[in-house]
Amino acid sequence: MSVNYLKSVNSKKGDKMAKQVSGDQMVVLPEGSQRVLGRDAMRVNIAIGYAVANIIKTTLGPKGMDKMLVSDLGDIVITNDGATILEEMNVDHPAAKLMVEIAKTQDKEVGDGTTTSVVIAGNLFKRAGELLDQNVHPTVIIKGYELASRKAEEVLATISEKVTPKDKDVLTKIAMVAMGSKGIGSDKEKKTISDIIVSAVSQVSEEKDGRYVIDNELIKIEKKAGGEINDTKLINGVLVDKEVVHAGMPKVVKDAIALLDTALEIEKTEMDAKIEITNPEQMESFLKQEEKMLRDMVQKIAKTNATVVFCQKGIDDLAQHFLAKAGIVAVRRVKKSDMEKLSRASGAKIASSLDDLKESDLGMAGNVEEKKIGGESMVFVEKCKDPKSVTIFVRGGTDHVVSEVERAVVDARGAVASALEDGTYVIGGGAAEMELAKTLHSYAVEIGGREQLAIQAFAEALESIPKTLAENAGMDPIDTIVSLKNKHNKGEKYVGVDVNAGKVGDLKEKGILEPSRVKKQAIASATETVRLVLRIDDIISSRGKSGGMPPGGMGGPGGMGME
Ligand code: ADP
Ligand code: MG
Repeated sequence: MSVNYLKSVNSKKGDKMAKQVSGDQMVVLPEGSQRVLGRDAMRVNIAIGYAVANIIKTTLGPKGMDKMLVSDLGDIVITNDGATILEEMNVDHPAAKLMVEIAKTQDKEVGDGTTTSVVIAGNLFKRAGELLDQNVHPTVIIKGYELASRKAEEVLATISEKVTPKDKDVLTKIAMVAMGSKGIGSDKEKKTISDIIVSAVSQVSEEKDGRYVIDNELIKIEKKAGGEINDTKLINGVLVDKEVVHAGMPKVVKDAIALLDTALEIEKTEMDAKIEITNPEQMESFLKQEEKMLRDMVQKIAKTNATVVFCQKGIDDLAQHFLAKAGIVAVRRVKKSDMEKLSRASGAKIASSLDDLKESDLGMAGNVEEKKIGGESMVFVEKCKDPKSVTIFVRGGTDHVVSEVERAVVDARGAVASALEDGTYVIGGGAAEMELAKTLHSYAVEIGGREQLAIQAFAEALESIPKTLAENAGMDPIDTIVSLKNKHNKGEKYVGVDVNAGKVGDLKEKGILEPSRVKKQAIASATETVRLVLRIDDIISSRGKSGGMPPGGMGGPGGMGME
């Protein structure tokens, strides 16, 4: 298919170009390389970008559908999450990979809004394609898009509203909207989890020079299938997915936690050493010696009055026995990341040698308990006082359910954290996009010239968000946009697509709030990527005959796959 496609490109451009292409390839490119030049290269990339957006746009918003993704091995993922879908799709074309990058960046920078960012980029591509058809030069389109993106960012700041950690109500709404589009749970369950997320984010947030900084990593998300979504809990501490090493140890203790980054084992030498034992007494004294060393190690821990030890390395069987006898609970081979979280939650310092361990290094927790969850033991370190790391323990009927709940929690955690860090939010359901588009339409007239067309195109790409929300909710997209435009022109800036009511309405009233950063980042990365692609006039693929070039289904130069 791709070979035919190349032929058609070449024949369209005439023989001279065909010769040139093959001539170049003969000289510098390895055999089997493929090349697409000029506008055709651009059109292929545009078509692919739009095609990718078209695949995931049906998932946008609370009425969006889910995708079932089946891997090579037959593993199934059912999700509504843009970033997850794109990742699991394993796209091959370089332009499609750029679209995946947009979603990944959004995921990393904000944690929510992945579908939004890709849909905006896809529509920027589509409109750029239309402008190219009208003979607008790519550099003009790029210029117009850049102007529009900068203006949009400015306007976004002016339409944003303020939020502080005290505004729990606003933050809970932001969490609910972020979770809302994942096909999970009832409103009551979403509210329960949203409250948990807001508490978790507020708990780990730190104030620096009047601003809040949140490290999402400090909110651990642990999941186990079983129970129901409503059983999802906030643990003021860390849930360690390990079991206590010895059956003779207490199941419940509190308080003094020691964190060790050293093994409770006799170290084996790196060298090949040989100990020659010639009689039974020698053997016995040798074992005694080992025993004594381990006993001393445990003694050093016991002396600090520790009741629990989390060890990043191994714990010898004999040491386990001595620890049990001393009434100390021990967990071994704890992940480094968990050790750090334990330290932040309990206030314990991680000791890298037993001689360094002091009573003042110990951390505190109101309850340390091994519990059996779904047949597996886990250690709950909870009721820490003012913990700087917490855990959200996600439950739900099956593995697929908990995985989707987890993705929803990740999105909501990101949304609440972004809103708090920037201290701003906007109205969702396309209301913010309509406001931005409105200003861009008048800005376009102000700028004039051919760039004007690109700025208008940009505004229309933003309108694709409410349009898609309406489409996915079974509403008429054109009527919806017309009605939204009228209302926004009249100054009703909070009006958006009320997908639940199936009509346009004031979404501030309905509490459909989103962090400003979702929009800011989505616009920024979509614009960046489209600009990048519009500057490409040559695709050279040295990946062999079948790889790298667009498969026919995505549309060649004739069929751009556009509506
Ligand atoms: P993304 O991956 O971009 O976050 P989502 O599927 O989560 O995609 O959809 C987010 C979009 O859905 C946002 O534009 C948001 O404002 C909108 N949205 C969420 N909940 C509602 C609602 N109840 N009514 C209208 N729009 C909503
Ligand atoms: Mg979302």
